Amino acid sequence: MKYDKIKKLIKKVGRKLDLEQGTIDALKSPQRIIEVALPVILDNGKTKVFKGIRIQHNNARGPYKGGLRYHPGVSLDEVEILATLMSLKTAVINIPFGGGKGGIAVDPEQLSKPELKRLTEKFAQSVHDVIGEHKDIPAPDVNTNPEIMKWFRDEYEKNIGKKSPGVITGKALEDGGIEVRNEATGLGGAAVTHEVAKRLNKPIEDVTVAIQGFGNVGSHLARHLEDMGFKVVAIADASGGIYHDDGLTYHETHKRYRSGEKISDVCICKIHGPSHDCAKTSAQSVLYQKVDILIPAAIGEQITAANASKIKAKIIIEMANHPVTEDAEPILYKKGITIVPDILANAGGVLASYYEWQKNVQNVKIDYNSSKQNLINKMKKALREVEKVAKNEKLSLREAAYILAITRIIAATPKTNK
Ligand code: NAD
Repeated sequence: MKYDKIKKLIKKVGRKLDLEQGTIDALKSPQRIIEVALPVILDNGKTKVFKGIRIQHNNARGPYKGGLRYHPGVSLDEVEILATLMSLKTAVINIPFGGGKGGIAVDPEQLSKPELKRLTEKFAQSVHDVIGEHKDIPAPDVNTNPEIMKWFRDEYEKNIGKKSPGVITGKALEDGGIEVRNEATGLGGAAVTHEVAKRLNKPIEDVTVAIQGFGNVGSHLARHLEDMGFKVVAIADASGGIYHDDGLTYHETHKRYRSGEKISDVCICKIHGPSHDCAKTSAQSVLYQKVDILIPAAIGEQITAANASKIKAKIIIEMANHPVTEDAEPILYKKGITIVPDILANAGGVLASYYEWQKNVQNVKIDYNSSKQNLINKMKKALREVEKVAKNEKLSLREAAYILAITRIIAATPKTNK
């Protein structure tokens, strides 16, 4: 299974930390698996039963935290590993949350809006006693959004008989959300890129970047990298993309992209403005550009043993989850490439969720500029902490991130049976 590498790494790091086998097994096992049957009356009057899952992996450091996804492929195996990753992510960026994940095995395209609402309400009824702003805090994920989260929260509040805005994050602004949330994953990625770029020993203006993916993560990332002074020379989405030696501009490119143009048809150079000099790339070949920093921000398993030798970047920032396969890693390390791992690089979203939760539950006042700056500072600090472990222990950044996360989880775990 593609996520085997995560359990293997926990075992490897556990051994390195001299943890006993039982402790390693506990880290690999979710604390609670909740599977519920969700009978929903469809618009045609018939009842259909859907399967809902919530997996609470670890709460040693705080309430379980993680998204709810609606997808036909939602399964216990997948949700378990995603919940595990959330425990590691919250620990590596050092916020007082644990890890969880959940979802419903459904193709939301096949349901009407009222059916989707009834399904969400049924799910909230079924899990309301194990969810809560101090117990387990869901958020939007694949195919879920602030509107679905609002249905979930309204039904949860009906069941517990009081208001509880902190039970979910990723809310719309008018429902208690925060402004920085939408761009937070991309912003966090730009912050770690800025910090790790110091390794290149050249001015930021000369550091070249290629980005695969121009959705929520890739587009905000491109904007913030440009604002920080980087030279983003290549961008591609699933349909292909463009390359320009002198760099591309974000704002006009994104505006035209949003209005329906293909990214490969838009060429606006950072220096010369609208231009005909862009080279076209495919969704794949954007990975092979001669750049300092490559950022896969689209889907998993893009860099494998089959294409790793073609990568020319010096640094890879994993914004997508699991974009580099286990067998590709040794090939990349042999070429001297640094990889900033996904559990650190794409943690900006959950960090913003923490700020939102602080606003709702602890009445912390938070404005856009301060949340943005806090997020940048915290992501950079997390990277420096991981780099320090990597240097001291002579490990990759991925292994170091796991060491740091697991050490923090173990330190917070109550010692029982004593
Ligand atoms: P999105 O759906 O908004 O955008 C995905 C982008 O990837 C699109 O531009 C799409 O065209 C492109 N793409 C899809 N298949 C591709 C392919 N085969 N080759 C090249 N490009 C391809 O998704 P997103 O929210 O931007 O998330 C991107 C990645 O980041 C995902 O792997 C996601 O799991 C991960 N991630 C997202 C968040 C978040 O807050 N959105 C948080 C953590 C991790």
